[in-house]
Amino acid sequence: MSESDAIIEESRSLAEEAGRCVKCGLCLAECPTYLLHRDESVSPRGRIALVEALTAGRVEAGATAHKLLAGCLLCRRCERVCPSGVAFERILDEGRRRLRSRLPLSARLVVAALSRRSVAKRLAGPVRVGGALLPSSNLAARLARRGACPPPAPGVHPARSAKRGRVGLFLGCTAALLDGEALDAAVRLLNRAGFEVEVPPGQECCGALALHAGMPELAERLQAANRKVFAARRLDAVVGVSSGCGAHLAERGDFPYWEIGAFLVERGALEALSFEPLEERVALHHPCTLENVLNGSDAVARLLAAVPGLETVEIGRRGGCCGAGGLAFLADGDQSRSIAAPLAEEIRRLAPRFVATANAACGLHLERWAPGAEYLHPVSLLARQLPRG
Ligand code: SF4
Ligand code: SF4
Repeated sequence: MSESDAIIEESRSLAEEAGRCVKCGLCLAECPTYLLHRDESVSPRGRIALVEALTAGRVEAGATAHKLLAGCLLCRRCERVCPSGVAFERILDEGRRRLRSRLPLSARLVVAALSRRSVAKRLAGPVRVGGALLPSSNLAARLARRGACPPPAPGVHPARSAKRGRVGLFLGCTAALLDGEALDAAVRLLNRAGFEVEVPPGQECCGALALHAGMPELAERLQAANRKVFAARRLDAVVGVSSGCGAHLAERGDFPYWEIGAFLVERGALEALSFEPLEERVALHHPCTLENVLNGSDAVARLLAAVPGLETVEIGRRGGCCGAGGLAFLADGDQSRSIAAPLAEEIRRLAPRFVATANAACGLHLERWAPGAEYLHPVSLLARQLPRG
């Protein structure tokens, strides 16, 4: 098929997908940007109609169209509730691809930084960034904490009880940069539950940020590199700790991907593990991608319930978004803050010792608006409560 034939075919299949939207509006009551702005143009069906019009050349690929699509948080709630099963993410990504020349420099820099092999390698070592260069003080604190707990080293980490299987650990650029403790905790929990864990070298960013920024070629290159890394190994599963990356990897079928919480629960780890008591309150936030794409919220709640004495209070609406939305917070900081506000208020009211969330970027975003608690991944909290030995 020639390149022009491929483009025509792609446009046709996109038009078919968009045509499945029957404009029923059932998704509106679940869309955080529509609920905030009460404006049809930032609703799921409004964005679908916009991409249709862009594809057909009825609308100019200008700044207004870019703003409307860039503000989507890609929380995927609309897909989850859509009775017609419209593949919204695919439609939005195509719209953003057509508008990628409008991508602001800040978003380009983030995608470039996280997608380059040299940076991925550098993540394995200490991160040194001048505090003045960082956009927020909690990001500086996160990076400092990472110095105390770096991601697990590449190689094989042996099972520490009767062996049940062998899994690979997907690092992910965001988790490796911001949450070395969660990756280390995943290895410790898996080892204790009887899983040998391999951390293969040569891993790349999952590609989600690049795809959603309108750069499918870069996303495919990153995916191909990860496919090669994991396909070359005999693994029962590949496990990760970031629901944003997980939503991307689980749907592409390159390898059998599992979110760590769901994997531990489904593979019997709850029966194999025990935890020291902890008399504290934890506010449990479920990232939108964990709930809407990976169906992993219940597993995380069950894991935390296994810690004696721990009071777990779920915050927010399941399937809702914290407001960060990939790179959407760069496109519209006011929107991101407004969507985070009710969650931040809930956290302040609860005054928990911990806020647990299965996506480091959500934690970073919420911590900015509701500081005071310790923000961490649920598996970090669990691993801290493992008995010594
Ligand atoms: S995306 Fe789905 S739920 Fe939303 S208007 Fe279209 S058909 Fe209805
Ligand atoms: S992905 Fe989320 S923010 Fe974007 S249109 Fe759908 S519900 Fe709204």
